[in-house]
Amino acid sequence: MPTATLKRDSTGVAPGWQRELADAIRDPDELCRMLGLDPGHATEARASAGGFSLLVPRAFAARMRHGDARDPLLLQILPQRAETIDAEGFSADPLDEAAALAAPGLVKKYAGRALLLLTGGCAVNCRYCFRREFPYAASGATRRGVNEGLAAIAADASITEVILSGGDPLLADDAFLHGVIARLDAMPHLRRLRIHTRLPVVLPSRITADLVAVLGASRLAKVVVLHANHPAELDGSVADAVRRLASTPAVVLNQTVLLSGVNDSAAVLRSLSERLVELGVVPYYLHLLDRVRGAAHFDVPEPQALHLHRQLRDSLPGYAVPRLVREVPGEPAKVWLG
Ligand SMILES: *Cc1c(COP(=O)(O)O)cnc(C)c1O
Ligand code: SF4
Repeated sequence: MPTATLKRDSTGVAPGWQRELADAIRDPDELCRMLGLDPGHATEARASAGGFSLLVPRAFAARMRHGDARDPLLLQILPQRAETIDAEGFSADPLDEAAALAAPGLVKKYAGRALLLLTGGCAVNCRYCFRREFPYAASGATRRGVNEGLAAIAADASITEVILSGGDPLLADDAFLHGVIARLDAMPHLRRLRIHTRLPVVLPSRITADLVAVLGASRLAKVVVLHANHPAELDGSVADAVRRLASTPAVVLNQTVLLSGVNDSAAVLRSLSERLVELGVVPYYLHLLDRVRGAAHFDVPEPQALHLHRQLRDSLPGYAVPRLVREVPGEPAKVWLG
């Protein structure tokens, strides 16, 4: 992970979110001290992180419970020994993304939609993420890759929706985003712009008035898909960020990864859905884990996932029940379960 560089805006001052990102926690000892945890957890984290080191913004860490090594937010970001254990069926590229690269920086798997990789980095390193093994530099998540991706989109009239992804696309600065979106706006076959981002949850200060203006200026219909896994992630600052995004205007959805020890209970998933709806966010997908090497300890077996999903359907309004899906390489869409 490259360390964040501070870019200055027109007033000559780096925006607050970039300072917050530069100041994110990278030292397991510091995190354990802050949360009142045994330093043994930090030693284990350092020994287990591999090439995917600890990274968590302070605003997100502040939502974790003091003194609780099983906190559901902490478990998502603190490296554990279990990551170093190889498990059958868990590989470096479980989604076969490398095969789906239509151009450097462009993943085209599904009809009408293409995913443009804007950045390789994130504000947080989620331990279960398939990104932990993905070769971003080689796959074109660079300025040159983005240019080639944009050229491929311009040349393919079957694409009606572009999904900005990464890494986290909102880590790109406003000037770069503005340039990319202006080029998409000028392609007559495009109708929708979608953004897949975890920043409104882990670094809500990223949703600045300037960003809202950049998005609001686009002629494309906008959809923002957040990523939250537990209701404790969704505090008032996230609610404010969602309100700002929705004002662009945008439809705001959420995707969740079903994670053992984090949200594998009907009560937690129900409360997550209810909290999302309170924020004006529609629960979209509940994903079974992508089988990436190092994440086997987060896996929830499919029969248990189906049982949890049935409990949600039996107790929530239909619009608050996310679709339970698994991504299967080679399929024309995500596979709906249940
Ligand atoms: C998930 C995904 C999409 C979007 O799929 P939807 O079902 O429309 O949300 C598009 N492209 C790729 C490569 C994806 O993984
Ligand atoms: S924010 Fe998303 S892409 Fe980034 S590490 Fe977490 S799960 Fe992966």
